[in-house]
Amino acid sequence: QKQIWAQLKDEPTVSSDGEHVELVANIGTPDDVAGIINNGGEGVGLYRTEFLYMGKSELPTEDEQFEAYSSVLEQMGDKPVVVRTLDIGGDKELSYLDLPKEMNPFLGFRAIRLCLERDDIFRTQLRALLRASTYGNLKIMFPMIATLNEFRQAKVLLEEEKAKLKNEGVTVSEDIEVGIMVEIPSTAVIARQFAKEVDFFSIGTNDLIQYTMAADRMNEHVSYLYQPYHPAILNLVNNVIEAAHAEGKWAGMCGEMAGDSIAIPILLGLGLDEFSMSATSILPARTQIKDLSKKELATFKDELLSMGTADEVEAFVREKTNQ
Ligand code: PEP
Ligand code: MG
Repeated sequence: QKQIWAQLKDEPTVSSDGEHVELVANIGTPDDVAGIINNGGEGVGLYRTEFLYMGKSELPTEDEQFEAYSSVLEQMGDKPVVVRTLDIGGDKELSYLDLPKEMNPFLGFRAIRLCLERDDIFRTQLRALLRASTYGNLKIMFPMIATLNEFRQAKVLLEEEKAKLKNEGVTVSEDIEVGIMVEIPSTAVIARQFAKEVDFFSIGTNDLIQYTMAADRMNEHVSYLYQPYHPAILNLVNNVIEAAHAEGKWAGMCGEMAGDSIAIPILLGLGLDEFSMSATSILPARTQIKDLSKKELATFKDELLSMGTADEVEAFVREKTNQ
């Protein structure tokens, strides 16, 4: 098995009927890039930047951030690197920010909500990203977007910082794609409207499942409700992919579901363009996809989307793919 994986390390990811999809990795620090290269990843699908902010006594400076972002971009060469802006709050606290205690942290003041309010913090990060943008193939992604206005506001701040930097004589890449995480049901439902304004979507199923099923992703008493194959999740995922393609944009997934061997055939059939997972899942996933026909899987779409339970979905996929 390991030998088959090793042979595929420098190969693109192609289904049995010749369709290419991108297998990229989730990382937390520049040191994680080595793991992507060793496992034949085609890029970074999610760089979780909050690790730069955690385990410290103060905010990271613009220069510290620039070092980290440019290092990842440089190491990845011309391969895509999707950097997610700060996703703090919820379960991830920052002691030095003195944020209010909340009844429902996962429904509270976090991620883009906090960044739009504390725009001093956000602007510093955006400047660091823009300065690093000439070191590789940077794509910027905003987390926890619930409304079009949040996306528009974030984009305005990005454009403002870009204009300032250019005024200061700093060179900034002119083709940075700007996209969003789809991890809140409201956004998945009106993906069609979002698709006109964003450059790409990355579906964050870890949060999308908890918000759709109203089941805390950390609470074992309700973990039976945490169902990636639930038809409600599949319909939302399908809606996002269709919306993206209708506008000529791409749709990826960076939640755990993207590396799951039952989910992969479903997602391939729905037309997902990019799968972002832990680096060690890349070669097993590439091996699996090599033997799957995207065209055949696409014919199961309507049947899967109209099923009533996650168990039915799972049994169907297991049967069709001999798992
Ligand atoms: C997600 O919500 O699916 C995701 C990838 O983000 P995180 O796990 O960091 O919340
Ligand atoms: Mg998330």
